[in-house]
Amino acid sequence: MSIPAQPGLLRVTLPVPLRREFDYLCPLPLPVPGCRVSVPFGNRVMTALVLSHPEDSDIDATRLKPIGAILDKEPLLAEAELRLLAWATQYYLHAPGEVYFQALPTLLRKGEAAAYRSTPYWHLLDAEAGVSAQAIKQQQALTLLRQGPLTAGELEIRGISGAILQALAKKQLIEKKDQLPETVDWRATATEVADDDKPRLTTEQALAVSLIQSARGFNPFLLEGITGSGKTEVYLQIMEPVLQAGKQVLVLVPEIGLTPQTISRFQQRFKVPISTLHSGMNERERLDAWLSCRDGSTAIVIGTRSALLTPFARLGMVIIDEEHDTSFKQQDGFRYHARDLALLRARQLDIPIVLGSATPSFESLHNAAGGKYQLLTLSQRPGTATVAEHVLLDSKHVQMNAGLSPQLLQLVEQELAKGNQVMLFLNRRGYAPALLCHDCGWLADCERCDAHYTWHRHSSRLHCHHCDHQRPLPPSCPSCGSRQLVGTGLGTEQVEQALSGLFPQYGIIRIDRDNTRRKGSFQQHLEGIRNGKYQILIGTQMLAKGHHFPDVTLVAMLDADGALFASDFRATERFAQLYIQVAGRAGRASKPGRVVLQTHQPEHALLQDLANQGYRHFAHSALQERQAAALPPFSFQALFRAQATQADQVQTFLQQLVQQLLPNLPSSVLCLGPLSAQMERKAGQYRYQLLLQASNRRELAAACRLALALIDTLASARKVRWSLDIDPVEL
Ligand code: ADP
Ligand code: ZN
Ligand code: ZN
Repeated sequence: MSIPAQPGLLRVTLPVPLRREFDYLCPLPLPVPGCRVSVPFGNRVMTALVLSHPEDSDIDATRLKPIGAILDKEPLLAEAELRLLAWATQYYLHAPGEVYFQALPTLLRKGEAAAYRSTPYWHLLDAEAGVSAQAIKQQQALTLLRQGPLTAGELEIRGISGAILQALAKKQLIEKKDQLPETVDWRATATEVADDDKPRLTTEQALAVSLIQSARGFNPFLLEGITGSGKTEVYLQIMEPVLQAGKQVLVLVPEIGLTPQTISRFQQRFKVPISTLHSGMNERERLDAWLSCRDGSTAIVIGTRSALLTPFARLGMVIIDEEHDTSFKQQDGFRYHARDLALLRARQLDIPIVLGSATPSFESLHNAAGGKYQLLTLSQRPGTATVAEHVLLDSKHVQMNAGLSPQLLQLVEQELAKGNQVMLFLNRRGYAPALLCHDCGWLADCERCDAHYTWHRHSSRLHCHHCDHQRPLPPSCPSCGSRQLVGTGLGTEQVEQALSGLFPQYGIIRIDRDNTRRKGSFQQHLEGIRNGKYQILIGTQMLAKGHHFPDVTLVAMLDADGALFASDFRATERFAQLYIQVAGRAGRASKPGRVVLQTHQPEHALLQDLANQGYRHFAHSALQERQAAALPPFSFQALFRAQATQADQVQTFLQQLVQQLLPNLPSSVLCLGPLSAQMERKAGQYRYQLLLQASNRRELAAACRLALALIDTLASARKVRWSLDIDPVEL
């Protein structure tokens, strides 16, 4: 391609882990910021995003290279979105390319055209068609398709499998067409919600709705409502006028909170296009959904963390459900917090934002106390729904059967006999968290981590939950040859096995990451719980999130002791959130429920506080402790992590960094480390870290910038992999 005599300059960002931007020559007229161009980089051709048109470059004019091609006529990201990403680059001190490209779906990163492409959509052939009443799933599929064509992926997340669609296609009721659904302008029909579809709000709900609706412009609200208090109903009602005004609404949910139930509640209320954005979608589906946000053809977007970075044509409100959930923080690469960026985005667009939770994060409670958020409280459940009774069961001196005390088993039996469901939680999957030789004491340890293998009896394998390494179960002890290999400790598989022996007449389902890997299997299990196929539900915290099972009257946490002695200062906050969430599974409908906690420490202040006084009370005293210790949210942290296959390389690097950094730090910035990570060796890598803490964000950021500049000069930095985590949620 020939470049005219006086080409212009383009400043672009490339998806590379370098903390800088790049300049190229480009023929006039220059593509505007937010467009992609292809450029030569090293000996490759890469997709780059245009950021600006600089007057001149630091690079010598003779060394500037011309771009390859302009890929977009229209910018992919609007000016406001580019500004948000620029701000995020500064705030998280991360390589700009990785920040900007995080906002683009994979296909666009690869240079694909920003256009809808023949995704096969399922269409209804006959609007009147029906199927027999027994074919419930097929009926559901037809009902969904009556509202418009959907992709197989969109149907899947609404609980309709490929097999159901094939069955309907065979009956010639639906067909798959490689074309786009007609883009209707939903604004005309935005919200024809019949008034009698909506429940009458409780006083607390009505107050929350009216306060949010009367707010103009940027206004953050913290909606603290116990489980079942009707937060979702509040979301639905505050969205209504926003949609009626033709504006879009973004609803962020935690990773595993996106279920057919969630989507259908929005769908039942509003006859507008709804898109989902989550990790289970394929690249094409993601791009289509992304495009429909950007061009405004979708009205409501329900998505996980990364949906926040999606461009919107007319965003009018942001809602973050379960705002305390840690899945909103990305844990690798560009480590942003979707909640924090969402607040920034709302401020930038001057729109309201609502953070909802039964157990708000300490950060948000602190912000509410400081007047930054307006606090709205739902303390009651509407109608006849009751709040569960809490019971602490002392495990001391008690003969346990697979982690279940006789008292607990008796409670389980009582509820089952009444035709109710029981739910048992244990946050450890597998059969046993360690495998031990009974004769010589040998322990099956992962070679690559400071961790024991978990014994998965079902698959007869040893599995390291930290590096994912797996191996077959050894037939005998590799150390002494004994065949007496026994599991120690308790996992969900073991609980399942014990209960199926004790209660053979009841259906038992275990829900953890091991048996929900297959696409759609999680939905299937949930379905089986709801239609009464199972009476005993065993699971990890996967089961705790957001699912509503009206027949569950007993929930039990089998082992609450671990969290009481964890080293991370956030462990108690996390435990309290999980406990309240688990407790929220009981007594949601009209049946009264009971929450049982098995512990060796029934007198522990934290447990007493939670069981008798509730989360708010606990949070209040825990926040005072944080304040006394000057821990977040009363201070700010940044964490440098480093790892390498040789421990001394990591130590040398961090020690050199500290040596040069310390003399230049103001006394108000605390520098802790280098310390080994909680698990020093993981997947063959030795891991160390350096924590910076300050009560002033600006000083902390300055210290981080200084450290980054020093790292650039350290030769030892090139022998390790390191990263910077601003506002880390895991230490
Ligand atoms: P949360 O999101 O706070 O856990 P939900 O919004 O799921 O609570 O509400 C719990 C149940 O109560 C749902 O079945 C919902 O339809 C119902 N509900 C919510 N608000 C009301 C109300 N004002 N009157 C009657 N039922 C309500
Ligand atoms: Zn042995
Ligand atoms: Zn391992």
